[in-house]
Amino acid sequence: MGLILIQNARIADFFGTFLDSGYVIVEGERIAKVGEGLAPEVPGAVRLDAEGHLLTPALVNAHAHLYSSLARGIFLREFSPKSFRQILEQLWWKLDRALDLEGVYLSALVGGLAHLKRGVSVIFDHHASPTAIPGSLSQIKRALSELGLRADLCYEVTDRGGPEECALGIEENVRFAKEERIPGRFSAHFGLHASFTLSDETLAKCRALAEPLGLGFHLHLAEGKEDPLDALQKYGMRTAERLDQFGILREESLLAHGINLSQAELELLAERKPTVVHNPRSNMNNAVGAAQVEKMVARGIPVALGTDGFGCDMLGELLSARLLAHHAQADPTAFSDQVSQKILEQNYLLAQKFFSVPFGKVAPGYAADLVLWEYFPPTPIGQANLLSHLLFANITEGLRPLYVIVAGEIRLKEGKVPDLDERDILAKAQKKAKELWSRV
Ligand SMILES: [Zn+2]
Repeated sequence: MGLILIQNARIADFFGTFLDSGYVIVEGERIAKVGEGLAPEVPGAVRLDAEGHLLTPALVNAHAHLYSSLARGIFLREFSPKSFRQILEQLWWKLDRALDLEGVYLSALVGGLAHLKRGVSVIFDHHASPTAIPGSLSQIKRALSELGLRADLCYEVTDRGGPEECALGIEENVRFAKEERIPGRFSAHFGLHASFTLSDETLAKCRALAEPLGLGFHLHLAEGKEDPLDALQKYGMRTAERLDQFGILREESLLAHGINLSQAELELLAERKPTVVHNPRSNMNNAVGAAQVEKMVARGIPVALGTDGFGCDMLGELLSARLLAHHAQADPTAFSDQVSQKILEQNYLLAQKFFSVPFGKVAPGYAADLVLWEYFPPTPIGQANLLSHLLFANITEGLRPLYVIVAGEIRLKEGKVPDLDERDILAKAQKKAKELWSRV
């Protein structure tokens, strides 16, 4: 069993732990001991001197699209979307169709590496690659295994590519869930794109296959106006109401966005308790509006935070959630620290639920998923202002991890992944991106 002693660290989490100087002992995949002051002798331990830097739990991204990693800087001949649907048609549905299995692997490797370098240890990914569906989730798993990250994977089933692609997407979800889950490392959801690209027949089929496997669903909910309009026009009901008819709003499900929702839909979500994942930066970029996050939290709807493929900076995303609420409500007191806290807690609860280890505290028994941030504050720091320090250090100086530990293994050391030729990976990705763009 691996033993790590982290000494001389400022230790903090968002739920009550704060030690100005202390130590942490990691035994196997969990934290064994946390103490104040000088570290004891731990024979056989790898000793890591934090030199006074800040040690916190690693972060969780509750909605990612690793497949988008090679879109950075893409040239598009025609790109003038007038609606959310046109953003999908003019960019994302062209890019995902251009991916082959090697592209899926390299996207996940590049995207996973970026997550690690932002202190994220758990990724809930939502994948699409319509011309390379079978085995695509295994390629993502392969890439993330090389980085040592934990991930929950699924394939976005949709009817937009016809019955054959739809059947392959369904099969990929089932295959991965049956054969490739590894407790504590790789878990699964049943992926669906969104209500407006799925027929009743397909939803019924997915439900019948997901339930015996105990799988929750991971899908987009009411992101653009297209979703409620489609549900109202074709089925005479709102999006969440339609999804509820197929048992999709279950506690295990992840519903990304949840922007265009009625009061009745919010009540339904409060009753069923799936997790709504807020992605403020993506929402602003796609001009789809602002989710009613505080209203959801107040009603007891679990709300988590994701990036929707718009980078992997979870601290920046949390600050953006606050800024979006201030802006949308014209109220500088909107989105309190308590709401931020609730959302962080939900991200950790998701990790706990799907990876069967307590997450989010620097305390004995918790997952040894830790980040040592390169951070000496210029102002007083304590439990009460920890969140504010992290959010503002991140936008001021760009908060970077020196070390990231995932499940008791050092995965980032002095800012680099040990035994990984990063330049080589980036060069391969660049070559692949060029090829991919020529097909878009
Ligand atoms: Zn998404």
